[in-house]
Amino acid sequence: MNSRSETRSRELRARAVELTPGGVHSNVRLTSPSVFFDRGKGAWLWDADGNDYVDYLLGQGPNFLGHAHDEVITAVESAMRRGGVFGSQHVLENEAGELFLDSIGWAERVRFGVSGTEADQAALRLARAATGRTRFVRFEGHYHGWLDNVLIKTVDGVTGPASEGQLAHHLDDSIVLGFNDPVALARAFDEHGGEIAAVILEPMMCNSGAIPPENGYLQRVRELCTEHGAVLIFDEVITGFRLTLGGAAERFGVTPDLAVYGKAMAGGWPVSALAGRADVMDRFAAGVNHSGTFNSSVPACAAVTAALTVLRRDAPYQRVEEHGARLIDGIRKLGVDHDLPLRVQGLPMAFHVGFGDPAPVIDAAGLGRLDLKRYADLVPVLVDHGIWVAPRGIWYVSAAHGDSELAAVLERLDAALSAGGRR
Ligand code: PMP
Repeated sequence: MNSRSETRSRELRARAVELTPGGVHSNVRLTSPSVFFDRGKGAWLWDADGNDYVDYLLGQGPNFLGHAHDEVITAVESAMRRGGVFGSQHVLENEAGELFLDSIGWAERVRFGVSGTEADQAALRLARAATGRTRFVRFEGHYHGWLDNVLIKTVDGVTGPASEGQLAHHLDDSIVLGFNDPVALARAFDEHGGEIAAVILEPMMCNSGAIPPENGYLQRVRELCTEHGAVLIFDEVITGFRLTLGGAAERFGVTPDLAVYGKAMAGGWPVSALAGRADVMDRFAAGVNHSGTFNSSVPACAAVTAALTVLRRDAPYQRVEEHGARLIDGIRKLGVDHDLPLRVQGLPMAFHVGFGDPAPVIDAAGLGRLDLKRYADLVPVLVDHGIWVAPRGIWYVSAAHGDSELAAVLERLDAALSAGGRR
């Protein structure tokens, strides 16, 4: 709340900017209110001054089981006593791989890594090797990591590098289209079909807004890739193990050739995965390089096995969906009560809150018509009232959110909206 103490956070912030640029170790955090957390448990966070927050950011997604899940901690703790990495295989790998493939259901092989960014790069390299082509199609507003060939910004319909120091020619191999536009994709294939190695996309666009695919869109993307011999890559870093156990591929009933996973798959532990068809994936054992000192580390495999065991046993998806649906209803009702043009869209486990016209947004251009700044200005007020969310508008629900969290967040949101945009 406004009256909350911030003494310790302020001291930590002052020291942090002397230690690391901007006081943060990831640029995404530059835009969020600077809070120094002390710990998290379940759906709650406590900062260095003892203030509590009901968490709907989940560390940008990974804590789908809630923070510090006991079974994940026990598994990782005991695994770490066996060592971390051996420069070879270890006895926990197969169980993690089997559980992983069995859970997503469609893929024949998996490679574990550490970050989504690198797994996306591995997927693109593999697609090029498999097709002997160079270019790939991707979509405005979709995020596939921070590296030179995939980091983009589109301003007034023109796409270019999103960072200083990033060379524009690194984007030459990508063809950037609007999401949910099957005609544009068909045209790109007509014009460049022989050059397109892959189509990579967030099957539900979450990084900018929460924009589900329109009916039939992913099916059409699948058809076009098959017709033109391009590899279809789903970037399921957000949607995997969140929309349902089998991710977006299962939820929307479309099977990619390759898919990238991260975040929710390991109960908050840093693990990513690339999974796919055996004939494509096996190129990693026949000429395509993919390496990593920490890939499939002992604690990482233990975390994957523990998290997937919990997800398969507890099947929290229905509960998460119900919580999210009630929360969305509550947010919409508060918008009406406060006479604010608050709008929510997406799916209950990952939705976008913003200000503007309530008509559905289907692509990045539509997002640009929302009042994104007004929401970003509200976020520090929400944080002051003990709701932890990010300025870009995405809210994530975890398996640890229950009735008390729902009551808390709606009461706090009501108070925050009464306080308006004032801090
Ligand atoms: N792809 C998607 C869809 C993502 O949301 C993210 C991270 N937000 C990444 C890739 C990159 O993952 P990481 O931050 O683990 O490198």
